[in-house]
Amino acid sequence: MQSQLLINGQLVTGQGTSLPVYNPATGEVILQVAQASMEQVDQAVLAADAAFAEWGQTTPKERADCLLKLANLIDSHAETFARLESLNCGKPYHCVLNDELPAVADVFRFFAGASRCLSGLAAGEYLAGHTSMIRRDPLGVVASIAPWNYPLMMAAWKLAPALAAGNCVVIKPSEQTPLTTFKLAELAAGLFPPGVLNVLFGQGAGVGDRLTGHDKVRMVSLTGSIATGEHIIAHTAPGIKRTHMELGGKAPVLVFDDADLQQVVEGIRSFGFYNAGQDCTAACRIYAQKGIYPELVKRLGEAVASLKIGPPEDENSELGPLITAQHLERVAGFVERAKALPHVQVVTGGERVNGPGYYFEPTLLAGTLQEDEIVQREVFGPVVTITEFDDEAQVLAWANESNYGLASSLWTRDVGRAHRLSARLQYGCTWVNTHFMLVSEMPHGGQKLSGYGKDMSMYGLEDYTAIRHVMFKH
Ligand code: NAD
Repeated sequence: MQSQLLINGQLVTGQGTSLPVYNPATGEVILQVAQASMEQVDQAVLAADAAFAEWGQTTPKERADCLLKLANLIDSHAETFARLESLNCGKPYHCVLNDELPAVADVFRFFAGASRCLSGLAAGEYLAGHTSMIRRDPLGVVASIAPWNYPLMMAAWKLAPALAAGNCVVIKPSEQTPLTTFKLAELAAGLFPPGVLNVLFGQGAGVGDRLTGHDKVRMVSLTGSIATGEHIIAHTAPGIKRTHMELGGKAPVLVFDDADLQQVVEGIRSFGFYNAGQDCTAACRIYAQKGIYPELVKRLGEAVASLKIGPPEDENSELGPLITAQHLERVAGFVERAKALPHVQVVTGGERVNGPGYYFEPTLLAGTLQEDEIVQREVFGPVVTITEFDDEAQVLAWANESNYGLASSLWTRDVGRAHRLSARLQYGCTWVNTHFMLVSEMPHGGQKLSGYGKDMSMYGLEDYTAIRHVMFKH
């Protein structure tokens, strides 16, 4: 199993202390991996900086060719990637292979094309006797930091736009889930010129801080928790580095009396529990209008109880384990505290699953109130709450009364209401009569404490460029 770093085109063993990488389905150690030493972090950044001199001057077509080749390699190694991701994250293998891998390859293909289509204001004489033009140039070295919930997909979201724009990248996957990024490093080693793409391994407090604080790093892109985002913004402030933040979420799901109940039930069953709910856009904070509320609680309870939790290799499994023992404790703690409230009803689930691995039952809690911790905070597990509301004004206020601003959805047959509310929800994305759907052409990113970077889409590509004005005196 590949577990080496990629520095300046060479696969090398880390020279720092080792960390165990676990299989969450069994709790067993898969392997020990040596972290990068501080010297290796510096080597990676300096290699990226040196490579930028040429990579930053390549044509979009040349960069697109590399990204398309990488997409093809991902396709041809899809089963290997899916096995590694499933092993390291506990995700059902068939979900990774069929849902995630095609989307990962598509992100590289999208940005290969997008790099050739950057746009700006027309060149022209905006001052008499002078011609102005807009350039969009790469920034230099980008440090990318990825989370554990979709390791390969998040690596793709970070690498593809940065490289397409002509930057060189040093990426650090989560220390919990490095295996697919290591595999990607192996494939990329022969594809990109040395130093264009570098892969490190290590904890945030050591490798992460050294990387993001390095003075040759011009931009830091993070997908992770709000706490890490706050830390990186403060840590990079003295260097006035550009930051790109994709942070946590707590998606409100507004279900009106006129919604198609069957669609709502099927939607929340899928979109609230995919990846065991470890998803920043998970449909986890349901607000149901009082007319539909009793029937939704009943029908959704039955649907959630029918979810199949089981080992990742079982093709019938819909949910695997949570990522770590600590995370299982955290999720169980949220649920225990919610259960202790007199107004909360456990409709289904609510307990850990006995045996090895970090499994938690798919859980539906009804009767929750707006001020409850479980409604306000990101649980990041297979736990959905339903809160009853009276009218549009109340639910809009509750939905927006949150520090998070990543994703939201509303379910109604009233097209006027759908427009009215989607204009006023303070979230980076609002889905109408669906949830969770992402496409490479559309931006993904938040507002408020959920951050401000955009992944995917032309907006994502633009985030990795500097807008420049060049003016000619005639
Ligand atoms: P985390 O913040 O603990 O870790 C994310 C990454 O940051 C890891 O690679 C970690 O090693 C690194 N890191 C930690 N401290 C660092 C430091 N001082 N310097 C540099 N890097 C450091 O988050 P996590 O637990 O891995 O992921 C879950 C979080 O990610 C959730 O809050 C989730 O909502 C969020 N998330 C957001 C999106 C999105 O698109 N907005 C997508 C997926 C996950």
